Amino acid sequence: MLNSHTASRSQYVDSYYAASSRAEQLARPALSSDLDVDVVVIGAGYTGLYTALNLAEAGKSVAIIEAQRVGWGASGRNGGQAIVGFSCDMPPFEAALGETGARQVWTLTQQAAAEIRQRIARHQMDCDYRQGHLWTSVLQRRVHLLTDWQEEASRKWGYDALRFVPKAELPAFIDSPRYQAGLLDSQGGHLHPLKYALGLARATESAGVQIFENTPALQYVERPDGVEVHTAWGRVRAHQLVLACNASIGALDKRLQSRILPVGTYMIATAPLGEARASALLPGGCAVSDNQFVLDYFRLSSDHRLLFGGKCTYTGRTPANLTQRMRADMLQVFPQLADVNIDFTWGGHIDITMARTPDFGCERNVYWAQGFSGHGIVPTCVAGRVLAEAMGGNPTHLQLFQKLRNPAFPGGQRLAALFQVLGMSYYRARDYF
Ligand SMILES: Cc1cc2nc3c(=O)[nH]c(=O)nc-3n(C[C@H](O)[C@H](O)[C@H](O)COP(=O)(O)OP(=O)(O)OC[C@H]3O[C@@H](n4cnc5c(N)ncnc54)[C@H](O)[C@@H]3O)c2cc1C
Repeated sequence: MLNSHTASRSQYVDSYYAASSRAEQLARPALSSDLDVDVVVIGAGYTGLYTALNLAEAGKSVAIIEAQRVGWGASGRNGGQAIVGFSCDMPPFEAALGETGARQVWTLTQQAAAEIRQRIARHQMDCDYRQGHLWTSVLQRRVHLLTDWQEEASRKWGYDALRFVPKAELPAFIDSPRYQAGLLDSQGGHLHPLKYALGLARATESAGVQIFENTPALQYVERPDGVEVHTAWGRVRAHQLVLACNASIGALDKRLQSRILPVGTYMIATAPLGEARASALLPGGCAVSDNQFVLDYFRLSSDHRLLFGGKCTYTGRTPANLTQRMRADMLQVFPQLADVNIDFTWGGHIDITMARTPDFGCERNVYWAQGFSGHGIVPTCVAGRVLAEAMGGNPTHLQLFQKLRNPAFPGGQRLAALFQVLGMSYYRARDYF
């Protein structure tokens, strides 16, 4: 676990997001008796919430059981960068599905980015959404990755929202000497992730979904007519089950667990900088991610802080001197912030698969979506749609994702973590040399 950043049950981690969304944090009851519903969802992050919302809108009775709080996991801690696309990019989809199938996945992804904006507006979610995402290249020799993607996106996937930004034009977007070029995606954006999760939860409840917090699912049992989920204080019987547990699925489903590796990633929030100083750093107000293997990602908050994320660990332990090390990374990008205090440091787990491909599927009445591999705001919206469609009798889109192969990590998570550390050292070296 992430020692100093892991909350006791029913508390959010001590993050900027938790501190800035107190007014929206409704306490929801734990499950206290048996319940019968059409669908039971385990996990109240974006995946569980989106799936439940779509199912409820299609007329199903749905209950979500959450071990901690709504948005307690990655959904309430992340970098807030709503990037159009999956972590693995398009090549694995094209290899598994051909160009036509891959184009369908891209269309779903683009539609999800639009749906997020529409849902925020329709359900009046106060989550600081801002349009615009900028990919940047630290290394000159990786600038071609930006132009290659722009060309591929336009030619193969019909996506023309990307604009190349040469170094001479970067100051209009970012006041940093670190980058050689950028690629602006006008359909990407950023948001306050916990407020967004809490807004989704409210929308879901308005559609009739019951959410139970502080209710860990201990096990599930398949029955001829459906499933039964056991908790400490009651059982939920349902026709269908959705596992939306991300990196903390643990022993609840060992087969799903064997296909993902929990990886720690971290964030800091500066003290408020004031509007002028903050917007001088990122004049266009975009979110930024670089294309290093161990990437930095950052953006401004609505109260004019810099929120800066990066690093990754495979050991399950929080790195020593985390705040100082994150601060040092931030100063590599913005040396002009040397006098600024860091108000918050926190971390969370992402769920990576071997090839960073999403792992969506179903067996009998059990459905799941995991393996977002660090890039989940838009893809979880895709997952919510695809699972709900399949559960309602239309598996066409889910079948696309089921063609991806997501094998178990050989040797289990311990050995996988060791190999990842070795691999990471190699790629980290390539980020520098
Ligand atoms: C620090 C960090 C930065 C990130 N930055 C970005 C970013 O900028 N852009 C982006 O697109 N993605 C980012 N991500 C990834 C993104 O946050 C995730 O992909 C996404 O939130 C996954 O949503 P989820 O609902 O699948 O999982 P989660 O939000 O983790 O939700 C899973 C939930 O299941 C619950 N649960 C687990 N087991 C049980 C059980 N047995 N019983 C009951 N409940 C259970 C957990 O308590 C948890 O609340 C980041 C992640 C982290 C950690």
